[in-house]
Amino acid sequence: MAEIIVRNLHKAFGDFNAVINSNFTIANGEFFVMLGPSGCGKTTTLRMIAGLEMADRGSIHLDGQDITYLRGSQRDIAFVFQFFALYPHMNVRQNISFPLRVQGLARKEIKKRIEEVASMLRIEHLLTKRVGGLSGGDKQRVALGRAIIRRAKAFLMDEPLGALDAEFRELMCKELKTLHSSINATTVYVTHDQVEAMSMGDRICVMDHGSVMQIGTPQEIYARPRTRFVASFIGSPAMNFLPVHGAFKVGDRSIHIGGKQIGIPQLRTKPERAEVLLGIRPEDITVTSLDRAEMPGEVIGIEYMGSRRLITVETKMGQIRTWLSNDRAIQYKQNIGLVLSSTRSILFDKTNGAAVDSVLFDEGGGTHG
Ligand code: ATP
Repeated sequence: MAEIIVRNLHKAFGDFNAVINSNFTIANGEFFVMLGPSGCGKTTTLRMIAGLEMADRGSIHLDGQDITYLRGSQRDIAFVFQFFALYPHMNVRQNISFPLRVQGLARKEIKKRIEEVASMLRIEHLLTKRVGGLSGGDKQRVALGRAIIRRAKAFLMDEPLGALDAEFRELMCKELKTLHSSINATTVYVTHDQVEAMSMGDRICVMDHGSVMQIGTPQEIYARPRTRFVASFIGSPAMNFLPVHGAFKVGDRSIHIGGKQIGIPQLRTKPERAEVLLGIRPEDITVTSLDRAEMPGEVIGIEYMGSRRLITVETKMGQIRTWLSNDRAIQYKQNIGLVLSSTRSILFDKTNGAAVDSVLFDEGGGTHG
């Protein structure tokens, strides 16, 4: 298993830049997730690592070797696609063992490896079955089996759970994570699903329009997003963004909103412009009585979400969403107060979306793209 180093990687299709100057290093054994909206360049990046697409510029190293211009077959990498791409005329055993038969491995060794892989994926009972009749989840297990049996240096997975229904997805997510901890293979996993990314990734690389926006642990990406795009792409319901105009300076610990002073993590740089957005997640806002409010507002939405309710409040600064526990009484159109956490909010430049540096980022905010 091996480290993958991507440097200044660039790929254009005609005059369209699909991947722009990407840089990242994936540690040996890491589960690295590439996350972003459709068309942001995730698959193109993965295909360049796999050798299915050649880079225009930049380099890719695998386990110390420059593989940038090697053919896919010359790279010791296994690939799992969204659509299982199994051989329909072969049974499960033949599908899984195919890569080893191509390599010409001894029969005894192939048999041993099939048993290992089948037991790991709990598909021993399917080995003699044709793949055509299998469920989506089982097909995906077979596709995974065919990838891991090679013991390649790295695994690349492109939306491998995308074709599964919600129930199987959740199950396979758990299984993939367990599988990863048992074989500990360097894995690059592409998805547009933030829940999948958050629950599986050791680190997440968020991409947009061909560029890497931020790389960090799920916690870093969630709590300390470096751009407004990352802040809004991660988290459901989305982060609240409140427009603020002010004369800010380094060291500020509060801002003025609607005639009130509201605490923020101490600023370490001065925002470039007077127009900023205060970003705050729903769980970092508390519902209070009106007399204790930093921000008063009227309840315009109450959504019951099982363990708690999601409340939408109309305020002078716009609509704000927050959580409320089920045991607290609340009514539609009620006037309530809101208090914003002074330690969890982030200011974003309204024009370019960059987060203004503050002590919040001391906790380690991941790297810029
Ligand atoms: P998705 O989840 O939709 O696959 P993605 O983030 O993986 O999105 P890519 O598949 O990498 O995105 O595509 C990035 C952009 O490059 C898209 O706009 C796509 O249309 C374009 N693109 C990809 N492959 C080609 C190609 N062979 N020729 C022309 N354009 C391409």
